[in-house]
Amino acid sequence: MEKNIALIPGDGIGPEIVREAVHVLDRVAESFRHTFHYEEVSMGGCAIDRYGSSLPDDMLAKAKAADAVLLGAVGGPKWDHVPKENRPERGLLRLRAGLGLYANIRPARIFPQLAPSSPLRSDIVRQGIDFVIVRELIGGVYFGEHRTEERDGQRVATDVMSYSEEEIRRIARSAFETAQKRSRRLCSVDKANVLDTSRLWRKTVEEVAQDYPDVTLSHMYVDNCAMQIVKNPAQFDVIVTENMFGDILSDEASMITGSIGMIPSASLGNGGRGLYEPIHGSAPDIAGQDKANPIGTILSAAMMLRYSLGMPKEADAVEQAVNTVLEKGCRCADIAAPGEAAISCQRTGALIAQEIKAN
Ligand code: NAD
Repeated sequence: MEKNIALIPGDGIGPEIVREAVHVLDRVAESFRHTFHYEEVSMGGCAIDRYGSSLPDDMLAKAKAADAVLLGAVGGPKWDHVPKENRPERGLLRLRAGLGLYANIRPARIFPQLAPSSPLRSDIVRQGIDFVIVRELIGGVYFGEHRTEERDGQRVATDVMSYSEEEIRRIARSAFETAQKRSRRLCSVDKANVLDTSRLWRKTVEEVAQDYPDVTLSHMYVDNCAMQIVKNPAQFDVIVTENMFGDILSDEASMITGSIGMIPSASLGNGGRGLYEPIHGSAPDIAGQDKANPIGTILSAAMMLRYSLGMPKEADAVEQAVNTVLEKGCRCADIAAPGEAAISCQRTGALIAQEIKAN
């Protein structure tokens, strides 16, 4: 097959980790006889420096023209004082909206080799952590009206949270379909005891459930869910929730799996187009030092192969290669045990690429 991939290295450690993911993809192409064409897209702080905009129109057009987009990370202290309309993160929000990506899929899975890195008690970790959070990505309070005004001599800030039935229905469908590919258990998370948006959320998810009789649906309040994720994560298979709740719960879920550097994500819209990125930021504190863990980005590339490029065997091969390298005891600095020798970002990428095999 021949596929076009847009690469957004971004800022900080972004270029280092994307480079390693490309080495792995090149090895996939070689082993499975595919051709990948890469198109580099400038987004984030680097695009502000070069073009004065965190995502120039022609860069968004390049991303839209590709079969899939692989992103490192954007942002850093250098751009913290840029006006909010043009912050590096704005480029990311524009990209998600421009590509119509409404579903964010984030696996929370612990590699057994890394179980000691989890901050949870070992008896909890031993029961297994393997669930997926499906988060609504382009609605809710992050996309509502924001304003700060002067009222009765003091500043008052307002952020509007709203959801339409259709916005809820399409993310619910993605979640039910995700659950159908796993253990067919879906937990919908809301705050229906307080919020109108949550009451509509719950009602709509229940309506959509009629079309998926093979999936068992349950509901949980978001505050309880935050507790259950640390108390008994093994109970979850697929969680679906709105944008802000998903943002917070998915960070919590990633933390319990050990390292932020290991976790991939996919953001999907209609028609299979997707944006794939590790969940961490640009890690300015270790940028340019060849210390970053590229595995989150490499596993994001595996999700890209599976969800957007129609290459499930190739995705399995990448995930298997990561597993083998961890099995052999190779560890980047963030996942090395105290006193254990750590390998560099480049070495990690090279070892994983070497292990790619077409079966
Ligand atoms: P961060 O995720 O960049 O870093 C948090 C900590 O985790 C740091 O100590 C960092 O060194 C470490 N870390 C992160 N990724 C790592 C990796 N792959 N390997 C090893 N260690 C890793 O979060 P932050 O410091 O809050 O944010 C830094 C910048 O990134 C900010 O400008 C923020 O806005 C931006 N950001 C971007 C995205 C994105 O591009 N999607 C997401 C979150 C934050």
